[in-house]
Amino acid sequence: MSDLKYCQGPECHTYYTKDRLRGPKGNKTYQTRRRSSFYYLGGNACSTRCQDDWFRKHGEQAINYFGRTTEAKQLTEHNAWHKQYDWDSNDDMIYVYRNSITNEQRPLTKEQYNDTSYTINTGE
Ligand SMILES: [Zn+2]
Repeated sequence: MSDLKYCQGPECHTYYTKDRLRGPKGNKTYQTRRRSSFYYLGGNACSTRCQDDWFRKHGEQAINYFGRTTEAKQLTEHNAWHKQYDWDSNDDMIYVYRNSITNEQRPLTKEQYNDTSYTINTGE
């Protein structure tokens, strides 16, 4: 039971659903949802509504805290490599690295394709 956590939506307790109505008979209150896991807000909100409420209340602060994007990021030939899979003429799955800028294609092993840390990109 100690693994339960509360929805971080600031208005969660104000939404009238049967599952939020808790407490002993005669003293029931609508309460913030509590679950072992959530699907929204990176596992911290019970619904898109609560996720949106959280962002409306804290989003601006969060962006300022973690760093606001103040200039355009750029995809160049140095960081435009992305992994793809396809099927060859024998219907075998093949893996390739394709560059979105130059359209160059390079072979990739299945291991390299599945390795999320493997990259040939040399910039952000
Ligand atoms: Zn909620």
